[in-house]
Amino acid sequence: MLNVMATPPASSPDSAHAPPEAPADVDRFLVREIRRGDQRAWKQLIDRYHGRLAAFARARLGSTHEVDDAVQETFVGFLTSLPHFDETRPLETYLFSILRYKVAEALTRRKRAPLARGMEDDSGPDAAMLAVDGETPSSAAAAREVDRRQEQVLSQVLRRLIGELRERDKLEDIRVLELLFFLGLRNKEAADRLSRDEKAIAGVKFRAVQRLSSLIDEMRAELGPEAALDRASLSADVTVANVWRRQRLTCLKRSTLGAFLLGVLDEAWEGYVRFHLDVVACPFCRANRDDLADDVTPAAGDPTEQLFQSSVGFLSRAPSHG
Ligand SMILES: [Zn+2]
Repeated sequence: MLNVMATPPASSPDSAHAPPEAPADVDRFLVREIRRGDQRAWKQLIDRYHGRLAAFARARLGSTHEVDDAVQETFVGFLTSLPHFDETRPLETYLFSILRYKVAEALTRRKRAPLARGMEDDSGPDAAMLAVDGETPSSAAAAREVDRRQEQVLSQVLRRLIGELRERDKLEDIRVLELLFFLGLRNKEAADRLSRDEKAIAGVKFRAVQRLSSLIDEMRAELGPEAALDRASLSADVTVANVWRRQRLTCLKRSTLGAFLLGVLDEAWEGYVRFHLDVVACPFCRANRDDLADDVTPAAGDPTEQLFQSSVGFLSRAPSHG
């Protein structure tokens, strides 16, 4: 269950062109080596991730030096928070969560700087996303432990629901749920966005919530005592919408985005990917797409080397783990 995306149906490009090593396995290997102080592994991790991180920051901040600063601070932030990093979490999502925090800080600094007035309006759909997640590397882990367990259970149940919908080719229903849960739209807004009847939207939502309830019951044995997930007792932070966003339940694999750019996806998936990128405007998948599209035009200089030099000092300072 380490993968960011639930298993796609067999017809999707991911199963056909699976890389020899699952990205999640490579990440875990690198993190383990970095914990031992291995500089080559650190450089490799930077090389792997700086492009998509920069693309994400650029989409929020524009092409300014703040982008480089935010990416650099993210890598340093990763190293300093390494002792608290849970290897079972997807690394990309963790790095994005640090970066979002750095981008939010940069936007706050702009608001304080009178000269930058006029640039601070970040009222697009992602503004809410930036604000939603109070998750920072310095969050007190203990206080969040109960929330974390609840979140894990809920995300497993949601993954199952999404998997079922994908298996049954209910990509239309997934679109509706993404608008409602990932983007937080109201039924009426989702109906307008999809040019559909509001009642149809309400129907999809109703069926999904019902299925979730029955899945929670069905999976109780499988999920263990923690699945005593009394819906009423869920904390305000562990809601379907928050978990959906934080766990990026409907995000696309990088290989799927690559196939999309090459134009080799089948029609249904192509439409769905386009929807996730353009209508949901998922900032994470857009960053990955921009990074992949950028690969054909290499950036000036060697960003990996620069980021490595500016962060490697924190590698040796990172307290040893275990
Ligand atoms: Zn996404």
